[in-house]
Amino acid sequence: MRRLPVFFVIDCSESMVGKPIEAVQDGIDFIMSNLRTDPYALETVYISLIAYAGIVRTLVPLTELFAYRDCELPLGGGTHLGKALDHLGKEIDRSVMKTTAEVKGDWKPIVYLFSDGRPTDDYEDAIQRFKAKYDNKVTVIALGLGQDVDFSILKKLTEHCIALDQMDQDYIKGLCKWISASVVSQSISVGQNLDKQDLLPLDERYMHLAKQKLTFRKSQADDRTVTFVGRCQKLHHPYILKYSRNLHYSGLSDLNINVYNFKLDTCEAISEDYFSWTDQTAEKPKINTSVLEGWSNCPHCHAETAFAMCACGNLMCYDGYSELVICPWCQRQISFESSGGDFDLSRGQG
Ligand SMILES: [Zn+2]
Ligand SMILES: [Zn+2]
Repeated sequence: MRRLPVFFVIDCSESMVGKPIEAVQDGIDFIMSNLRTDPYALETVYISLIAYAGIVRTLVPLTELFAYRDCELPLGGGTHLGKALDHLGKEIDRSVMKTTAEVKGDWKPIVYLFSDGRPTDDYEDAIQRFKAKYDNKVTVIALGLGQDVDFSILKKLTEHCIALDQMDQDYIKGLCKWISASVVSQSISVGQNLDKQDLLPLDERYMHLAKQKLTFRKSQADDRTVTFVGRCQKLHHPYILKYSRNLHYSGLSDLNINVYNFKLDTCEAISEDYFSWTDQTAEKPKINTSVLEGWSNCPHCHAETAFAMCACGNLMCYDGYSELVICPWCQRQISFESSGGDFDLSRGQG
């Protein structure tokens, strides 16, 4: 039996926090449960799930469809696309059977690569390495979620680049329906011994081929969103604050003056697992708090603000009245007095 290997490589960087990662999680669960009801897919499709943030790990090694168990997507700091491609290459080498003179190996693997922003590692060489080795042996379909995707990078990897303009539930669901239908269609064509991998028509309500070459300013961190990690002062559990870029002031059009700030998007509890998916060696860019707008309660203990800072540079929650508190990061005892000044904060890597 020749297998049809399908790899999902999923961006689990911290900018996905909240609704986007939930929508992708629902979408992946939907794809799997849908495929498991399809007789053609059940016969040939093998699934693997790889997650990448600052760290890359295989969540599900190549597994036959009926044995696949749903698993929870992680969240971490950083978007290491280069590492993800190197890791994917190793997984392909390890698990996909090659065709030899004696035996027919697996069908050509398909990779669905999800990305929501710009890589934060050294991806150029990794793309070259991947292309050199797998260009005709693997079909890669790059799926760019939301407005921040740098398709000029993904286009170096594959001609199949699909853009989703929004990261919300409906769009991601539309995308996942298309992926599911594509895998079924592919399993039917290999069932008829055809090895053609044409893309199914896209559902234009949600997605389109990324044709235009978009270029962004080179930057280590994502410019459209900034994230901060804090810890609850009472319960010590971590949380993440995500701010999104927002047009704050626009001058006369011919003057071309636009002033941006960052508005609070979400504040979510995260698990300790976050730190094991984050590249701890990466340097954290700084941002001045004067460009941030909006506060949130602590998602764990509901203290008044999740945005109190210790001298160690880390964030914690604060109830607004306790005079002495212990920093959950450095255990230092600190006394809070109100101060209106703005300060520089280390932000996440995106
Ligand atoms: Zn708290
Ligand atoms: Zn501290």
